[in-house]
Amino acid sequence: MAARTTGQLQVAIVGGGIVGLITALGLLKRNIPVKVYEQASTFREIGAGVAFTANALKCMALVDPDVVNAVNAIATKNGQDDAESNDNLRYHDGYNWDPNDPEGSDDKLLGLLYTGYKGFQGCHRAAFLDELVKYVPSHAVEFRKRYVECEDRGRNERLLLHFSDGTSAEADLVIGCDGIKSKIRQLILGPENPASYPHFTHKVAYRALIPMEQVEAALGPFKAYNQHMHTGPRAHMLHFPVAGGKLFNLVAFVVEPEDWPLGDPNGVGNMTRPATRADVAAAFKGWGPTVTKLVELLPETLDKWAIFDCYDYPAPTFVRGRVCVAGDAAHAAAPHHGAGAGIGVEDALALCTLLEHAANTLALSSQDPGAADAAGVVEAALQIYDQVRPPRSEWLVTSSREVCDIYEWVHPETGEDWEKCLAQIRMRSNRLWYFDIEGMLKELRDGWESRFPVDASVAKMTIVGYHKVEEEM
Ligand SMILES: Cc1cc2nc3c(=O)[nH]c(=O)nc-3n(C[C@H](O)[C@H](O)[C@H](O)COP(=O)(O)OP(=O)(O)OC[C@H]3O[C@@H](n4cnc5c(N)ncnc54)[C@H](O)[C@@H]3O)c2cc1C
Repeated sequence: MAARTTGQLQVAIVGGGIVGLITALGLLKRNIPVKVYEQASTFREIGAGVAFTANALKCMALVDPDVVNAVNAIATKNGQDDAESNDNLRYHDGYNWDPNDPEGSDDKLLGLLYTGYKGFQGCHRAAFLDELVKYVPSHAVEFRKRYVECEDRGRNERLLLHFSDGTSAEADLVIGCDGIKSKIRQLILGPENPASYPHFTHKVAYRALIPMEQVEAALGPFKAYNQHMHTGPRAHMLHFPVAGGKLFNLVAFVVEPEDWPLGDPNGVGNMTRPATRADVAAAFKGWGPTVTKLVELLPETLDKWAIFDCYDYPAPTFVRGRVCVAGDAAHAAAPHHGAGAGIGVEDALALCTLLEHAANTLALSSQDPGAADAAGVVEAALQIYDQVRPPRSEWLVTSSREVCDIYEWVHPETGEDWEKCLAQIRMRSNRLWYFDIEGMLKELRDGWESRFPVDASVAKMTIVGYHKVEEEM
């Protein structure tokens, strides 16, 4: 075992989903060696839609412009106009209608919300991952590596990760991007801690991709090619075009009163169950003709997805020593802001920025042995990450629950008053989309420089904060 004091950082990322891969690309862009350990035999995503909001797209550009290239290669604009996208989110009353006047009274528009230029474009998940993977060099990934344990052999040694196939790997730090049932989160918080596990929100989602020509024939081109949210009592439905307008991505959210056990908290477990179109029809019985037609377009059998999140037991910390979590592993949110992956991209930007500071500090200290060691700079970087990121991601977890109640007309402050509902949706969406990214970067930089001030006159790091940090732990 080689002793570690100074030198290059070696990063391990557990999990090759959207957040793990984007973090890896950002680190590679900054010349920081990284290896992604993915339990599956290949990268894979489900056949469903995902959309990225303005904050996510801006952070992607700062992490690595190739991530934006991957989005642009497959994103589908809203609307039929080839030259221009329709950049509005549309909220409709999917429930109330007059049977004597279905055409005039059905699916009334309640309001529009401007997303900014191409602010909410639909992506086919699997197609996006395929594009992203093109930028990830094969040496940066190992498949069939199911993380089971992380061994801390003392601060002068690298961490040792153990995998289910009996192999192991060393790293200076571990970033858990291992999703909603994260093992790394369990390592940080302890297996007995309820905050180590996500909990059921009592909502389920029925998801389907439907051939566009069927939808166009049933509902006309405007509904087919433009994003719509159909709101109503205790349920709602969202759709937008994906795959260049060839497919129609539909997701219907309904209340599930029964409990849904997490399944095997250490592994695959069952977060989906088989369902039928008749189940969805029963949940939306009595809704307007548009929603009824949408239900009729669903395949006869489909899956229902349990929506779990971290609302009941938020993680008190995302970090332990040289190990941290990002994305759903840190703060899984219900999907009602369409922003879980997007806020994970913000985590990726924060981690890449801090680890670049850490790598530079380490490189400088190699000229001054003993000034900083790998464990010290890594711990400092992760402590700053843990101060800066949790407030925003925990706000998303809470607001995602609340905005669902607004869509479903049961929020105590807004009820069925759509002026109030829209004001709330606008306020929350703007907070999410127009995030002060420069402010976050400044906070990270200030945090770093307060621990590792740069003495510009000698162009060398003066390590004043580091030992103090160690004492406080
Ligand atoms: C219905 C629905 C709609 C959504 N819509 C949107 C949207 O429009 N916009 C948006 O931004 N977000 C959306 N989200 C949220 C988004 O899907 C998630 O936030 C995002 O996919 C999380 O990415 P991740 O990389 O953190 O985790 P994951 O995608 O779950 O990736 C985790 C990876 O880790 C691997 N892994 C797990 N355990 C181990 C282990 N022990 N060892 C090695 N590898 C391991 C897994 O195989 C997987 O590849 C939606 C979610 C749902 C449910």
